[in-house]
Amino acid sequence: MSAPAETVLAWIGLGGNLGEPHSAISNALAQLDDDSGIDVEAVSSFYRTAPIGITGQPDFINAVARIRTVDEPQVLLEKLLTIEAQLGRVRTEQRFGPRVIDLDLLLFGGVQMDTARLTLPHPRMHLRRFVLEPLFELEGDLTLPGGRALSHYLARARDQSAVLDDAVKITD
Ligand code: ADP
Ligand code: MG
Repeated sequence: MSAPAETVLAWIGLGGNLGEPHSAISNALAQLDDDSGIDVEAVSSFYRTAPIGITGQPDFINAVARIRTVDEPQVLLEKLLTIEAQLGRVRTEQRFGPRVIDLDLLLFGGVQMDTARLTLPHPRMHLRRFVLEPLFELEGDLTLPGGRALSHYLARARDQSAVLDDAVKITD
């Protein structure tokens, strides 16, 4: 992305637990960065999470990316859904069931909205340690659009599991 007029910071949650989730997430990040309207600025470590709700399915791999974009939020969501489809996600899957890739628009600047197609912030992000933990790794001081600190929600999700995935732990 080259010197756009107006850009917004947004955060994307990436996850998957079928096939090769590490490569699906990496592939999704590469496709996002290839888009002329999107610049991937930072990516968290990858986290391994036991499935919530439906047990007996493989662990999830999750990560969060910070992007800078010139797109409107609805346009960005459509791009995420297109990448999900390209990577082989089938929309008949059960909710919270196994999936090749899930791309969620967590935050779009400070925007709050609730339409049939898009809710911002993502309506369940504040409850999910597998989102909060990688987001906190990137933005320890973040305040969510509702006015509360990210750390507030993370402290309340302590009982869930979301551990660094050793296989891809970033060593810097
Ligand atoms: P989930 O991510 O909760 O498991 P899905 O990935 O199946 O659910 O998403 C279903 C629908 O949620 C999408 O088609 C999209 O229109 C809608 N949606 C609403 N708000 C958001 C958001 N912030 N990010 C991603 N999808 C959203
Ligand atoms: Mg989703």
